[in-house]
Amino acid sequence: PALLRAESLSFRYERATPLLEGWSARFEAGEVVAVTGPSGRGKSTLLYLLGLMLRPRSGEVLLDGAPMQGRSDRERAARRASTFGFVFQDAALDATRTVLDNVLETALYRGDDRRESEPRAHALLERFGVALRAEARPGQVSGGQAQRIALCRALLGDPRILLADEPTGNLDPASTEVVLTALHEQARHGAAVIVVTHDPALVARCDRELTL
Ligand code: ADP
Ligand code: ADP
Repeated sequence: PALLRAESLSFRYERATPLLEGWSARFEAGEVVAVTGPSGRGKSTLLYLLGLMLRPRSGEVLLDGAPMQGRSDRERAARRASTFGFVFQDAALDATRTVLDNVLETALYRGDDRRESEPRAHALLERFGVALRAEARPGQVSGGQAQRIALCRALLGDPRILLADEPTGNLDPASTEVVLTALHEQARHGAAVIVVTHDPALVARCDRELTL
């Protein structure tokens, strides 16, 4: 079976127009897929559905062929932590914790050992040029730095599925290149990588484009 599959997904926020309306797709290990489309079409919402953060009104999300809709919130949260890395559009860092603790957050939630995770977290911060910010609070870093820190958090668990919402939105060309390389490397390691983006240069570097 496909690593991740969306089957006839539909969604609607309270008192809002329907989104997706029966959307289907499959995502295989090893590919980087761009999700594009006009603003408001439901790209971010689609990532929340694929990442088991929202439940569809109808349809299914299948992980390794197994339907996720009927699972409890608790089981979905466990799957999310074990299988997915998520880079939110606004980075979504916890302002009360240091950058390092933000990067470690998902790993510790999953029950990983801090002494094993911390050197990996430092190595990731180093790689993305934000190691000097490890002890800073998110409020003290730039938007571009916050985005790279959020990517470090998503990559720390070596996720089999990486979902990224405009991961290069605030980045200069050099940082964009570093992020793109990391996305492809994660795919080469056997992950399915799904990227929402408006950036034609990024789309051109993906294996496939799905337009909502
Ligand atoms: P995109 O990522 O393609 O811009 P989104 O998934 O962010 O689209 O949003 C799709 C639509 O749903 C938009 O019209 C947006 O305003 C609306 N929307 C997003 N989040 C919520 C929410 N929590 N409650 C109500 N409407 C929402
Ligand atoms: P980036 O290339 O990461 O997007 P910017 O060009 O936005 O960085 O910012 C350059 C530098 O300015 C950063 O290294 C950061 O230390 C500092 N900086 C930017 N925004 C803020 C902020 N809101 N608070 C503190 N420092 C900031």
